[in-house]
Amino acid sequence: MAVIGFIGLGHMGGPMSANLVKSGHTVQGFDLAPAALESAAGQGVTVVDSVAAACRDADAVITMLPSGKHLLDCYGSEDGVLASAADGALLVDSSTVDVADARKAHELAGEAGFRSVDAPVSGGTAGAVAGTLTFMVGGTEDAFRLAETVLEPMARKVIHCGAGGNGQVTKMCNNLILGASMLAVSEAFVLGEKLGLSHEALYDVASVSTGQCWSLTTNCPVPDMVETSRANHDYEPGFSSALMLKDLRLAESAAEQSGTDTAIGRLATELYQRFNDEGGGAKDFSAIIHSVRDQS
Ligand code: NAD
Repeated sequence: MAVIGFIGLGHMGGPMSANLVKSGHTVQGFDLAPAALESAAGQGVTVVDSVAAACRDADAVITMLPSGKHLLDCYGSEDGVLASAADGALLVDSSTVDVADARKAHELAGEAGFRSVDAPVSGGTAGAVAGTLTFMVGGTEDAFRLAETVLEPMARKVIHCGAGGNGQVTKMCNNLILGASMLAVSEAFVLGEKLGLSHEALYDVASVSTGQCWSLTTNCPVPDMVETSRANHDYEPGFSSALMLKDLRLAESAAEQSGTDTAIGRLATELYQRFNDEGGGAKDFSAIIHSVRDQS
């Protein structure tokens, strides 16, 4: 069993680190928030008082932080991960960050002599608790093989997506599809409502036809169609609209940098921005259907 440093014990990192403990690893956890430390301690995480202490003698150091800025600060600061990790430690970043920041983190790790992977996740807080996350991993084959073993207790799937940064590329491309498909499904239901079509009729046909997608058949934005839908739980997340907006913005930033015309992505970003401005950020991203209705 390994010693794992875990930095960032929030909504995702808390339950992820708990699953590592359950599988027999020793987890040295650090967070800036006392409440996060207290909760992790209750799950068997050995809480420590600094990034450096989390890294001490660890075989792997996992970060689960809000943004690329947090990640690069945490890696590069005096007493940060790069200054404190043990020789040979594997660095795993599972935060969702800008591709450019992910590539910078790999570059800094490589210069400091560490193997590293970016390994963002899909599956939300429910997947973090259940240990059923999908990890999208960018890095060398060698680093991926090491990461697979570390990630396994938190994962349903661990997929190698190519070179460093490609985990983040995969995540933002997936969420571009997700944000756009949720808007399309929401618009279809509202259009149907306006024209006198029942939710059931549209669901029964589209779910077995060419309109079928995850946004319809797993997280349908209207209640009572599918059990797993957050619409049945007053749109409590799930995956919040604020995080969807964050990921769509990351996709737009990468599209600009790479000269890709993502017209649908731009529009989805604008519509989620408007919904967040209207106060919908804490709701599941499927609640965007309210915004479609309000504008109709
Ligand atoms: P969160 O805000 O709940 O947790 C982040 C934690 O990092 C906080 O507890 C904060 O105190 C801590 N932190 C910040 N800077 C730190 C530092 N320098 N040292 C130690 N701790 C520090 O966020 P979350 O929901 O757990 O999300 C974490 C990451 O996972 C984000 O990048 C997010 O986009 C991504 N993500 C979240 C979800 C989700 O459903 N919540 C799903 C997929 C991906």
